Amino acid sequence: MLQDTNILRIPGPSPIPPSIQRAMSQPMIGHRGIETKELLQRIKPKLSPVFGTEQDVLIITGSGTSGLEAAVVNTAQAGDDVLVIVTGAFGDRFAKICESYQLNVHRLDITWGDAVQPEIVKDYLKNNPQIKAVFSTYCETSTGVLNPIREISNVVHENSKALMVVDGVSCVGGVETKMDEWGVDVFVTGSQKAMMLPAGLTFIAVSERAWEVIEENQQPRFYLDLNKYRKSLNEASTPFTPGLSLLFGLEQALALMEKEGLAQVFQRHQIMMEMTRNAFKALDIPLLTSDATASPTVTAIQPEDFDGEMLRKQVKQEFGLELAGGQQHLKGKIVRIGHMGYCSPADVIQTIGLMELGLRKLGKDVTLGQGVAAAQECYLKQEVSQQ
Ligand SMILES: *Cc1c(COP(=O)(O)O)cnc(C)c1O
Repeated sequence: MLQDTNILRIPGPSPIPPSIQRAMSQPMIGHRGIETKELLQRIKPKLSPVFGTEQDVLIITGSGTSGLEAAVVNTAQAGDDVLVIVTGAFGDRFAKICESYQLNVHRLDITWGDAVQPEIVKDYLKNNPQIKAVFSTYCETSTGVLNPIREISNVVHENSKALMVVDGVSCVGGVETKMDEWGVDVFVTGSQKAMMLPAGLTFIAVSERAWEVIEENQQPRFYLDLNKYRKSLNEASTPFTPGLSLLFGLEQALALMEKEGLAQVFQRHQIMMEMTRNAFKALDIPLLTSDATASPTVTAIQPEDFDGEMLRKQVKQEFGLELAGGQQHLKGKIVRIGHMGYCSPADVIQTIGLMELGLRKLGKDVTLGQGVAAAQECYLKQEVSQQ
């Protein structure tokens, strides 16, 4: 096999654009110097629109999970009643973080592959008025579901005083996010998914209402105390040494998004999702999620008459194409394709084409090009509908 080939189509980490790679190789600078201050000042106004907020977005050096943990320790304290919507492995992680801090966790478990219905959240809150915060994933990466955050946030605010906290790690930067308009109180994302960077930074946007809770919250915390990050960011600084190389990369990532246009970035993800789904429909391979609940950043297929793990192994060995498997009880049952961040319709066509070859090699009776053609047709239609 051609060496140094790695077609990374897993739902994070995602590939890095060359210009971001180059930006990250800049020599180190002093984190208390004027250059870092100016860098943060340039980044600030460009990061907020990605979240759809007027608030400054806090930057913590740490993986996405540190952002989730920060969201928990800042908005709640031991003994508080919180509702965690669990639509997959990452909702489950949110629940486990809450349990670690001895919150009184109410789990709303939804069948994996489905999105949560706002009505259920509404009923739960009406029966449990003591709930102080509601935690939900936006894109549930383990299934490829996009939860209806706007609607959930509405029912939360109409039926309770709870804060709405959202894990947007695998979609913010690739999917429309309107934090202020939707009334989301804390929105978290990570660097290695739709933001086109390596892992290592987490971004957190906080509403005014959430700040009131955070300022008063007695929960012990140090590195993840958001008050520190807010105070520092107001001075264009960070409380601790930031991952500076990642910040160099972030500035370039935001420049790329700005040049393409945020609306176009979101549209590109939408098109990639539709192309991928149409391809597997044409190949008669079941999808895990419905069209109405599918995420533009990741698609899960449910193999019935072939071994998904064998397919993953095959395309990895032969073409360097890396796909993801299932998590927890979906392990070995689904194959997940990431199409987020530095990924285009051209990449989707390549992925489908290689998967068709892999399927044939496994002995599955597929007509070569059938999935690719469906993706191509879909691309053309999408192009027309956008004009
Ligand atoms: C990737 C991911 C995370 C964070 O994972 P880290 O490995 O800590 O960066 C959290 N939530 C979702 C939905 C994710 O996809």
